[in-house]
Amino acid sequence: MKKCIYLDYAAATPMDNKVIKVMAPYWQQKFYNPSAMYLTSRSARQDLNEARENIAKQLGAKSGEIYFTAGATEANNLAISGTARNFLDGEVLVSSIEHESVIAPAELYKCNKIASNTNGIVDLSDLKKKINSNTVLVSVMLVNNELGTIQPIREISNLIISIRKERIKKGNKKPIYLHTDAAQAANFFDMHVSRLGVDLMSVNGGKIYGPKQTGILYVKAGTRLKPLIVGGGQERNLRSGTENVPGFIGLAKALEIAKKMKDKEAKRTRELREFFLKELSKNVPGSQINGSSKHHAPHIVHVTFAGSDNERLMMELDEQGVQCAVGSACSASSAKPSHVLSAIGMNDEDTRASLRFSFGRNTSKKDLGRTVKLLKSLCSK
Ligand code: PLP
Repeated sequence: MKKCIYLDYAAATPMDNKVIKVMAPYWQQKFYNPSAMYLTSRSARQDLNEARENIAKQLGAKSGEIYFTAGATEANNLAISGTARNFLDGEVLVSSIEHESVIAPAELYKCNKIASNTNGIVDLSDLKKKINSNTVLVSVMLVNNELGTIQPIREISNLIISIRKERIKKGNKKPIYLHTDAAQAANFFDMHVSRLGVDLMSVNGGKIYGPKQTGILYVKAGTRLKPLIVGGGQERNLRSGTENVPGFIGLAKALEIAKKMKDKEAKRTRELREFFLKELSKNVPGSQINGSSKHHAPHIVHVTFAGSDNERLMMELDEQGVQCAVGSACSASSAKPSHVLSAIGMNDEDTRASLRFSFGRNTSKKDLGRTVKLLKSLCSK
């Protein structure tokens, strides 16, 4: 039996052994509720606060700006609904290529969508056109999860800074926040919040070799949000519920490791991506790479195999031990064509002929060579 070749790291990553190790004591010896008053509980609270401080340090934030959540879906919902519910007459502006966990909450309120160009990069002139005096939140992801395109967050931040200045001059007291969903970014990119210029940022443990259902929302001091989950008042009243101590300890370690590895991993993965693209173009005629050839993350390759049926191709690859995705992980169960691919103007036929391959720490050149060989034989049938 040949080993499986996992090429779906954008959907989930295996846990790093060092992460498992730091989490282990919190299942049994240190299981305490960090809100209780006895010494052992207070020690769990202290460990949780250290994890928060560590995360803050990795992101260039203050520990009071880090709020733990159960993954990026919750962090995105908190950023969008938390803002919209605080400013009910305000408008939310999200890019049309956001993950569903941004689009769906935005659609609950007054919202508008920013167009994307055909390469999967948000159209800044459309963004400028659509921001109005009622806009309270702009949400644009750092790296798109389907195409791997990198979005111009710093440029958007500069635009928002100038809009804030205008508003002050005009006496418009409405705030305007910038949120970025960075779920696909932490393994390879600079996540420093002030260099990015964001007010809100979502990070996900399950994509960085940490535990699933763990995440954070960075909330810049002074940003006003309404909680979605109320109750015991944990996370400074923004997210009630007994804290997932082992999970958040693991998340902090995973983020620390990701930051240490990011430059080396980005270089290694970029080389793998280049190799994969070269081999595809040599061996699989009719394969077309989607997204931007300039602004792309190293770990995602989105390919249309002209005339193929992506679900069948994915299953045939799976049968041969190669695992990849038909759509984004979270929409894989839906029969609807991806809204991201529609937003870049891809027709339904090409959408249904496209697969996403995503690479991670265990991906090798040999794996990719074998995958292309298989694709060559499957696509020539
Ligand atoms: N945002 C992006 C860009 C993602 O890729 C994902 C998951 O694929 C999410 C948000 C949601 O993450 P989770 O389902 O772990 O909450």
